[in-house]
Amino acid sequence: MRQRHKPWADDFLKENTHVIIPNAAEKKGKWQALFGNDHPIHVEIGTGKGQFISGMAEQYPDINFIGIELAKSIIVMAGSKVKEAGLDNVSLVYQDAADLHELFAENEISVIYLNFSDPWPKKRHAKRRLTFHTFLEQYQHILRPDGEIVLKTDNQGLFEYSLVSFSQFGLKLKEVNLDLHDIEDPENVMTEYEEKFSAKGQPIYRCRAQFSR
Ligand code: SAM
Repeated sequence: MRQRHKPWADDFLKENTHVIIPNAAEKKGKWQALFGNDHPIHVEIGTGKGQFISGMAEQYPDINFIGIELAKSIIVMAGSKVKEAGLDNVSLVYQDAADLHELFAENEISVIYLNFSDPWPKKRHAKRRLTFHTFLEQYQHILRPDGEIVLKTDNQGLFEYSLVSFSQFGLKLKEVNLDLHDIEDPENVMTEYEEKFSAKGQPIYRCRAQFSR
């Protein structure tokens, strides 16, 4: 995703600590208390400009959503969207998901969304893919036993890699969809990338996977 320098980003982070949570590791194991309810928590990794997480939060007011994004100039755009919409069931975290275990306790999360994650096509960059086994180890730890990973992408290479990585890790594949928009799922909330790629006629792949315990 293109990142333009945003001179207002630091001020936004300082002034909107109720939306983009500073020192988020301190909330580990206490996220429900932050939201002030006992609703399930869904996490999106690589939230981008926040269209998906805002849409989901509006559609599902009884679910708490946490978006993690490592680019400052991008997370502040998601933050503005969440703030403008007045959504109290969304929190954002400006952090690299490689350190996910610092943010969440065991079994704290119900669903993890990976939407149009960077594909890192070169083999030597495989460990940066969000479905590399080191990420799966962290997802397994923080997800509840009945929790799941939902992955959407336009990238066939990343999709194939992820299916193999999930299978090698022993995850159960609950859904493998090779053309999401062909089935017209009325509950599907589109991300920015999803809108862009499906407008060009590209198929969108979706998979739902669960750790077997
Ligand atoms: N999910 C959005 C969508 O579908 O429109 C954005 C997709 S964009 C291709 C991928 C996003 O993931 C970028 O905003 C990038 O900064 C973020 N990202 C990539 N690796 C990440 C990581 N390890 N931790 C947190 N965010 C990450």
